[in-house]
Amino acid sequence: MNHYVQRVLNDLQARNQHEPEYLQAATEMLQSLSTVMDKHPEYEQAGLLERFVEPERAILFRVPWVDDCGHVHVNRGYRVQQNSAIGPYKGGLRLHPSVNLSILKFLALEQVLKNSLTGLPIGGGKGGSDFDPKCKSDREIMAFCQSFMTELYRHIGADTDVPAGDIGTGAREIGYLFGQYKRIAGQYVGVLTGKGLTYGGSLVRKEATGYGLCYFVEQMLAAHGKNFRGQRVVISGSGNVAIYACEKAQALGAKVIAMSDSCGYIHAPDGIRLDVIKQLKEVERCRICHYVDRVPGATYHQGATNIWGVSCDIALPCATQNELGLEDAKALVAGGCYAVGEGANMPTTLDATDYLLASGVLFAPGKAANAGGVATSALEMSQNSMRLSWTFEEVDCKLKAIMQHIFRKTAKAAQDYAPSPNNYVVGANVAGFLKVADAMMAQGVC
Ligand code: NDP
Repeated sequence: MNHYVQRVLNDLQARNQHEPEYLQAATEMLQSLSTVMDKHPEYEQAGLLERFVEPERAILFRVPWVDDCGHVHVNRGYRVQQNSAIGPYKGGLRLHPSVNLSILKFLALEQVLKNSLTGLPIGGGKGGSDFDPKCKSDREIMAFCQSFMTELYRHIGADTDVPAGDIGTGAREIGYLFGQYKRIAGQYVGVLTGKGLTYGGSLVRKEATGYGLCYFVEQMLAAHGKNFRGQRVVISGSGNVAIYACEKAQALGAKVIAMSDSCGYIHAPDGIRLDVIKQLKEVERCRICHYVDRVPGATYHQGATNIWGVSCDIALPCATQNELGLEDAKALVAGGCYAVGEGANMPTTLDATDYLLASGVLFAPGKAANAGGVATSALEMSQNSMRLSWTFEEVDCKLKAIMQHIFRKTAKAAQDYAPSPNNYVVGANVAGFLKVADAMMAQGVC
């Protein structure tokens, strides 16, 4: 490994021992950049990697709110503003009990590379809270969102930092957050993306990450003489990304045979009925186990990660980080899986990724494959600035072109810098990094 990369990695490990997710993401990225540093010694002189891995700013704040019984709760709110070299910070807000600084720093770092890959002028950030939106009334969600935004509003803006949705933050939460921002700031601006269609949202934003994932995987398959038609696909999760990945995979001719939530998975050998999943998850907001009460022939199995034992051709992990470990990767390969596309952020552990690559599995890394969501958020920002709304077909067409462009850039960087031209992990890291690095070099030490 390049000596500069090794030194930065050692420093990082010494200084961030209690941030495992951040270390995991930074290690994967830094290891991929070894060849780049061999070719560009000027980056070491400019302290570029040390600056790249350190957030420009990390804000932590108290979020007090009152539940329906009058009890006061205090959650912790965060915004990590990682890098603004190529545009305003951009990245989602995650609401989940597991949220902490390590997870948000990993997500923010990934977001910088992902946003760069889209080719659009957006920097990277991420935020959220350890608040759990599950089983809360609409009024409680509103109380939390208003309190969260009462602090966050002073740190964001249409030209400084534009948050969006993520796990636990859907259209309802974005609506409450936007309403509170407008009320405090007295401005009607595109300060959040993922908004409802009646107040500045973009068509296709809801579908964008899942559709974009399938567009990317379609390109990767085509580069190897394959396509989705007739393939058995397993998708983890049943949230926003998973549902629209399923919709597009089915439209492209695949048979989706399993989906999950955090409790377990359903196996439907004849193909998932997505209308039933949407009813359960988008309308009733209940557990996926109820699927088997409504669709004969399907079975429910306890334990979310057991889904990787289902024999398939293509696997699309779309739930959360580190949901696919080494044993799961072995099970996938043993079951005949030849392609994995990450819809979630870092769903595959480092050792599982290495195993899949060494086994010849085509592997689409999340920061490239799931960039369709943020790309469409950037299209929402453009429409807000122009006071225009594009049609569904217009946005979908732009999304598809962006994902094709990301695949080409990733594949080219893999060819130029990776140990193997099929190593899209290195390709995505390098392609995302180079643009931001050039901008940072041009802007001096800051
Ligand atoms: P949602 O909250 O809509 O859905 C998350 C899904 O993952 C749910 O089915 C949830 O199940 C499941 N899940 C959560 N935690 C676990 C766990 N520990 N084990 C197994 N399943 C789990 O989130 P999104 O679909 O928006 O996001 C999914 C992933 O995609 C995240 O990694 C996110 O960062 C990433 N992403 C999302 C984008 C977007 O546009 N939404 C853009 C780019 C990346 P349950 O309902 O039981 O909690």
